[in-house]
Amino acid sequence: MLIVQKFGGSSVANPDRIVNVAKRVALTRREGHRVVVVVSALGDTTDDLIELSRKVTRNPVEREMDMLMATGEQVSVALLAMAIQELGIPAISFTGAQVGIVTDSSHTRAKIKNISGQRISEQLKRGKVVVVAGFQGMTEDHEITTLGRGGSDLSAVALAVALKAQVCEIYTDVEGVYTTDPRIVPEARKLESVSYDEMLEMASLGAQVMQARSMEVAKKYSIPIHVRSSFSKQPGTIISKEVKSMEDVVVRGVSLAKEEAKVTICDVPDKPGLAAKIFTRISEANINVDTIVQNVSKTGTTDLSFTVGLPDLNKTLTVARKVAREVRAKGVTYDDKIAKVSVVGIGMRSHSGIAAKMFQALAKESINIEMISTSEIKISCVIGKNQAVRAVRALHKAFGLNRLGRKTQLALVR
Ligand code: ASP
Ligand code: MG
Repeated sequence: MLIVQKFGGSSVANPDRIVNVAKRVALTRREGHRVVVVVSALGDTTDDLIELSRKVTRNPVEREMDMLMATGEQVSVALLAMAIQELGIPAISFTGAQVGIVTDSSHTRAKIKNISGQRISEQLKRGKVVVVAGFQGMTEDHEITTLGRGGSDLSAVALAVALKAQVCEIYTDVEGVYTTDPRIVPEARKLESVSYDEMLEMASLGAQVMQARSMEVAKKYSIPIHVRSSFSKQPGTIISKEVKSMEDVVVRGVSLAKEEAKVTICDVPDKPGLAAKIFTRISEANINVDTIVQNVSKTGTTDLSFTVGLPDLNKTLTVARKVAREVRAKGVTYDDKIAKVSVVGIGMRSHSGIAAKMFQALAKESINIEMISTSEIKISCVIGKNQAVRAVRALHKAFGLNRLGRKTQLALVR
């Protein structure tokens, strides 16, 4: 079998852990599989590098940011290749550019255009374990690019597609994908399987296990993903195409996104084309807008609210204030103390009453809902940040996701 194994930053945070990863890779290789390994930078290296750049400038040029950030992964591939060699297994490390991961030229958030993969195949034929730097690629003009934070997941999935791997294993510091963040709800359960669409929703809604874009690629090419712990041999969570039985569970998980802000443009004249104008401006500034709410207008004007990622808030306000003046709206207000809780599950397509149940659970906790948005397989509510933890716990329980107590489990077995 050809297996792509990806190890995140926490799995290679120090030399002991790098040796641990090398042992796991060696084990897979000794079982007779061909192995391509993708690694992230050691521990918090990427954050540290970004911080370092802030010490010399407040407005770094994005090309240079990529030059800087890409160094992180170059350190880990070299160290991991050495550690694997030390175990008597031939290995070789490569940067993204060296193995022909070609991207577009949008620095710091580049998109992969194609992967030649030839160099990797050659080395695999020679029996080597190939270690590839995650998170990075190269433009057609030989400029180094990075794929956006968490981008090593994308590197791994894209390599699995290009090399026609049987499976892409994502090794991390948790046992798999959980019904919700176990740090918030100790009763959270590890999921055995989850569909691409559910994982995509959960990833974009705050679950940090997988980068959202990597899920789109996995879905498009139906590459099975196995999310598992680099510290245990237990099977983790399989992310795959949906099968009928997955619909039996109405809500698969509860996610929480805390890094969000709400922006309101007040008293926008109620005329055709204004929403188009406002959101065109915002998208031109490369800002991702999420939930949008517009009220019915009674007086010829309406308030328009939407959420953006907290890091984009300042940029958004600048654009929103400008366009508000242009369309003669009254002004712009914002709230950076919000959170978004969501319930996700493909079973929602065939079950009704989920929204009502969600709102009831929040009402019981006296939590006020500020905005609501839905898709076929998720319902999200924007609420006050200080109520987020309570909301997640209440929803997790209301939808029956809490781990069964020992007693109930025994009863079920009998
Ligand atoms: N090192 C990069 C980051 O921290 C890429 C990754 O870890 O996936 O975002
Ligand atoms: Mg990561």
